[in-house]
Amino acid sequence: MLPGDLIARESAFDERTAQDLPAAWDCLGQVMDPEVPVVSVVDLGMVRDVEWVDDHIRVKVSPTYSGCPATELIEQLIAEALMEAGFRNPQIERVLAPAWTTDWITEQGREHLRAYGIAPPAGSGKRALIDAETPVITCPHCGSQDTEVVSQFGSTACKALYRCRSCQEPFDYFKCI
Ligand SMILES: [Zn+2]
Repeated sequence: MLPGDLIARESAFDERTAQDLPAAWDCLGQVMDPEVPVVSVVDLGMVRDVEWVDDHIRVKVSPTYSGCPATELIEQLIAEALMEAGFRNPQIERVLAPAWTTDWITEQGREHLRAYGIAPPAGSGKRALIDAETPVITCPHCGSQDTEVVSQFGSTACKALYRCRSCQEPFDYFKCI
């Protein structure tokens, strides 16, 4: 790298503008859910919008499971990550309606959950409200569908504890809402 490149990059970094919104999305893609450190807030579908207002960035964030104590921490992590990336005075706006649903978790997010040993939400959150039928949960370890619920509450209230009858491994299931 030439010395001039570094200077040019640093000065650009100091003056974040509306042109840098894609960089902000990249930055948010690195902010992980503190409870599931392999899934970013973007993959969780928590980031509703990123926009430029006057001289600063505004990020609209939908909390996941209502009353989840991690919400404030997540908002703080988002603000810190943006400031570290050169965005001054980031504004985090909490958006409650429409309410977040597990349907907003991206395909990439679901893959990361599975790789981490957590079964991603099965089916649609909206449908789960209508028919209370227990969905078939696939074991994230071996792929077997021969699983049983051990407890409706896993390591956190957002998850249920399951066990696989094929490989005998317990695993968390990310509940549908
Ligand atoms: Zn299994």
